[in-house]
Amino acid sequence: MDYTGCELCPNMCRIDRTRGEKGVCLMSDKVKVAWSGLHKGEEPPLVGKYGSGMIFFTGCPLHCAYCQNRQISGSDGMNIGYEVSSDELSEMMLSLEEMKASSINLVTGTHFIPSIKDAIIKAKEKGLGLPIVWNSSGYERVEALNEIDDLIDVYLLDCKSLSRNVCSLFCGSKKYADVIIPVMDYIKERHPVTDLDKMSGTILRHLVFPGTIEATKNFLRYFASHYKNNFYLSLMVQFVPPLKNVDFPKMTDDEYDELVELLEELEIDDGFMQDRGDEILWIPDFTKDVPFPPSFASVNPYFLSLKERS
Ligand code: SF4
Repeated sequence: MDYTGCELCPNMCRIDRTRGEKGVCLMSDKVKVAWSGLHKGEEPPLVGKYGSGMIFFTGCPLHCAYCQNRQISGSDGMNIGYEVSSDELSEMMLSLEEMKASSINLVTGTHFIPSIKDAIIKAKEKGLGLPIVWNSSGYERVEALNEIDDLIDVYLLDCKSLSRNVCSLFCGSKKYADVIIPVMDYIKERHPVTDLDKMSGTILRHLVFPGTIEATKNFLRYFASHYKNNFYLSLMVQFVPPLKNVDFPKMTDDEYDELVELLEELEIDDGFMQDRGDEILWIPDFTKDVPFPPSFASVNPYFLSLKERS
């Protein structure tokens, strides 16, 4: 699978990205990195002592209405990011290891799978010893994931919703609801055991969208019957409205309590749930060298040198 006749994600644009053509992800075959550095805002086992070693890729095959990374996903036309070669991407991974990152955390890399695979192999040949985390919206093609799966230690995968209506409203594509189950089934088959002490397996993230508590409950029931013995669950309540003039209903305390009770009833024990007080009230600003609050993150100096070059 390559960039000619691109079929790397479910959009199946079949355009030739090597000729500069761009599909839904808005990216040619030139890898663009929007930011790299240590980040402490991930689930605790991924953070370790100093932070997870993040590499945020520019562009996205999915353009969610609530996207918090609009400056880099292309959803608002900005596409902030800096072109890097596979060699440079491998060096970026090694520099994160020098910063004492706990892992290499690849954020939204679906549309660059061939180049990322190449870079991981090169980095490992040069001595990279960190586990690789595939941090993804879940909007994937199993055939494309299969190209890189052998190199992935931990999947940090969204399951945004199983409802076509909810996906249509929030995720930019009702097709999401059709593709996410085969993706989760594939990962379960390939990585049936999650052991975060050994940095292996899957954390399935689900963000509760406003006004869709029943869809979340349906997702939790499906999770309990299909994946609770294989995956950890990360239930997030940090929805931040992307547009200041759009009023979303806030989750009530009663709704939050209902979810806690349902988790107990379904005996979903392994995982993480955000407390109501843990909601994040900021959106990253990728125009800055450190897009996150300083207590959360520090920039990778090697990334900074590539950014300043361009
Ligand atoms: S990766 Fe991009 S070009 Fe390729 S199919 Fe997906 S959206 Fe289209």
